[in-house]
Amino acid sequence: MATTTVELSDEFLQEIKTPQAIDALAADVKHRIVDTQIVDITDLQWIDESEEEPSNEWKVTAGVLTYVRRIYIPKDDLLRNNIITLFHDNQESGHFGALKTAELVSQDFHWPALDTTVQKYIAGGKLCHRIKARRHAHHGTNMPIPPPSRPLEGVTMDFVTDLPESTASGYTGILVIIN
Ligand SMILES: [Zn+2]
Repeated sequence: MATTTVELSDEFLQEIKTPQAIDALAADVKHRIVDTQIVDITDLQWIDESEEEPSNEWKVTAGVLTYVRRIYIPKDDLLRNNIITLFHDNQESGHFGALKTAELVSQDFHWPALDTTVQKYIAGGKLCHRIKARRHAHHGTNMPIPPPSRPLEGVTMDFVTDLPESTASGYTGILVIIN
């Protein structure tokens, strides 16, 4: 399995904490929240899953709301997209598909319908995919030229350049004139 490590810097956590404070779901689950003894949010990543207590799904860990030891990402489209980007665009492996990306994101983060958000992100024609799809040159659109009714009515000229040097003359280009 490819591993993606997200550094839980103070700046990064603040970006999550701020919208969490005004998030509807966060407000809704507050009655279920229990404070944990974990004081450092980075400890979350080192806890054995088997230690889980199903009754304590929502917790506040070092001031951050978590769901089953995953950091809850509030309803903030930009923030959620940024989190997806962290896992989707892997420096070594390239761009992961929706399934793999969702799997990686959900190891550390949680929000409702996370899978759907990831699918939309990937299907949404993000910049990374447009670049990927257009690695070849544009083929352009063929414009049909109506047949001419008399000589020299339509003349096209085309320079064909960067050809291998011809041995006789040293030319590397030709001019094609179609009448
Ligand atoms: Zn991508």
